[in-house]
Amino acid sequence: MPYNNKHESYKYYKKAGEIAFSIIKDVEKILKPGASVLDIVEWVEKEILKRGGSHAFPCNLSINEVAAHDTARIDDNRILKEGDVVKIDIGVHINGYIADTAKTIIVGAKNKKKDKLVKASKEALEEAISKIRPGIKSNEIGRVIEDTIRSYDLKPIVNLTGHFLERYKLHTNKVLFNIYTRHYFEIKENDVIAIEPFATDGYGKVVDEAEALIFRYLTRKPVRNIYARRLLDYIERNYPYLPFSERWLGKMMSKINLYAALRELINIKSIYAYNILREKARGLVSQAEHTVIVKRDGCEIITLA
Ligand code: MN
Ligand code: MN
Repeated sequence: MPYNNKHESYKYYKKAGEIAFSIIKDVEKILKPGASVLDIVEWVEKEILKRGGSHAFPCNLSINEVAAHDTARIDDNRILKEGDVVKIDIGVHINGYIADTAKTIIVGAKNKKKDKLVKASKEALEEAISKIRPGIKSNEIGRVIEDTIRSYDLKPIVNLTGHFLERYKLHTNKVLFNIYTRHYFEIKENDVIAIEPFATDGYGKVVDEAEALIFRYLTRKPVRNIYARRLLDYIERNYPYLPFSERWLGKMMSKINLYAALRELINIKSIYAYNILREKARGLVSQAEHTVIVKRDGCEIITLA
């Protein structure tokens, strides 16, 4: 599929990228000590629609040692504190063409150690992007990311990766490691890739928390429970391809029935649960992410104006 400037899909990617960039730029203004996690996440999701996009996934807001897949719960009462290391990760799509971008913000006053953490993932992302072109080996990108993060005396997170995107597919089966790996493949012209280095002062690995707030539809299965069946019908109709959050289902039924229904759908593998991911040694984690389209002589960052 060619993404030259005349192609429809290219225009959709560009538009999705512009919206995502404009929101992630503006969100900084509301990330202040005392701000509520629920308000921030709902603001981002509302702005995506207001600015003409659709949700590619729920707004992720992950704090300190939590690396990814956290978002506001229904009735979340968490408040941001001075010094919190906040990863905001947002996804916008137009007609299924997805722009995925993230950045890390330190809440409140400047702090040398935490600024270094933020810089490490940001610079790793920039270095990786500067190397992307058709023919480059995927493990060369991993090497650049790893070396850059290690040059800050920090560790890349080995089990979080960048990923390739296709229409209505946030993750294809191709991933881009944040470390050097023996195995590699070649990057091709017109590939669409979300590159997302994570840096930490902890162990360098994430583990699953028990809780999940973000889910994705997998397949239809027979369901006996009336609430689980209603929920599965609703998910099939509204979120057949892309991730959704429990908040987006909150008005369907009581919280207690919703949680039981979600649990049943996870158990029978009708839906997939993205467990909250926490750094193994509870180190602080930073993330930087852009979506790029590979061009003949490099790449174009769609999530940058
Ligand atoms: Mn992302
Ligand atoms: Mn991503």
